[in-house]
Amino acid sequence: MILSELEKQLAERRDAHLYRSRKVIESPQSVEPVIDGKKVLSFCSNDYLGLANHPEVIKSFKRAADSYGVGSGSAHLVSGHSAEHHQLECELADFIGTERALLFSTGYMANLGVISALCDRHSEIYEDKLNHASLLDAALLSRAKRVRYPHNDIAQLSERLESSGNENKIIVSDGVFSMDGDLAPLNDLVSLANTKSAALMIDDAHGIGVLGNKGKGIIEHIGIDIKQVPILVGTLGKAFGTAGAFVAGSETLIETLIQKSRSYIFTTAMPAAVAAATRTSLQLVQTESWRREKLQSLIAQFRKGATELGLSLMDSHTAIQPVVIGSSSETVVLSEKLLEKNILISAIRPPTVPEGTSRLRITFSATHTEEHVDKLLTVLDEIKVK
Ligand SMILES: *Cc1c(COP(=O)(O)O)cnc(C)c1O
Repeated sequence: MILSELEKQLAERRDAHLYRSRKVIESPQSVEPVIDGKKVLSFCSNDYLGLANHPEVIKSFKRAADSYGVGSGSAHLVSGHSAEHHQLECELADFIGTERALLFSTGYMANLGVISALCDRHSEIYEDKLNHASLLDAALLSRAKRVRYPHNDIAQLSERLESSGNENKIIVSDGVFSMDGDLAPLNDLVSLANTKSAALMIDDAHGIGVLGNKGKGIIEHIGIDIKQVPILVGTLGKAFGTAGAFVAGSETLIETLIQKSRSYIFTTAMPAAVAAATRTSLQLVQTESWRREKLQSLIAQFRKGATELGLSLMDSHTAIQPVVIGSSSETVVLSEKLLEKNILISAIRPPTVPEGTSRLRITFSATHTEEHVDKLLTVLDEIKVK
């Protein structure tokens, strides 16, 4: 029986150092959240630009709550699609440079919704092995044939596409890989998609807002015409500091998603106040490029210091700077030692990352200071992270 096995399974998880538990945050999101009444220095939030608790964003949220109330009441297609949602979609499309954009309540749902609307059991979905769980789940849900290629291995991907006679192919990749921080080889993916007549979908959850002069993410960073990336997903809960996600693309793509995307149709719209707050975030993302510059300088400071300490870093120049430890138990111990020193960095373990590559996933925010980074480096040295 399903339920009678649970205790045993939980015990096994605990024994394998894979048990997960939550810490209760008693303050706004910031680089110094309060846990158990104690202020800690956090290096594991995805609030990369420090907008989650920005006064202007909060003000827009409150103002919209006064005008629209809290709940959206129903799905977008029923009566939940407010003027704030509509305006935000137009502004996101303008920002990215596509005909349209469509809001989803979360990034997870956006990925499920897009892939299951576009693919069926006659399609083939090519996914990087390190793609985010939501992209992998989406492929399962679509019932399409799934082909996973080794991380960023264009030669392998090309070979696999070559040997397929299927007309309905889609290549799906993270833009910035969420647990490694490295970038997809977007130029290569674009040319492969073109030569092999495959559709291309990029999930830029960790690039949007962070990369590029204006924060347009990987496309701007690499200098690729958005027309070459017909399906772009961005999330709003990370650099934008709010919640939700969007898909940017052509009129035809977006209208198709409105008709067919089940995680769009069968769910309540995000609160209008979240959309209103995000409109303000979007302004800040575009105008306050100092946040991206600051972030880059903190990343450079960390990489330099960490290299001097002999830490092995990954090939990442984004806000995600993981230190791979290997064993889950060791990673958990290090994470606990860090917390004893008032530093919050969670231990990322399988199945979030491959077996044997448990890590401290260190992330930076524009609201960290140079002193924060120095403190982190000192403590990493003290507790002998290598
Ligand atoms: C966080 C993340 C998602 C999910 O977005 P949510 O809005 O948190 O549901 C999707 N894709 C990637 C690559 C992510 O890192």
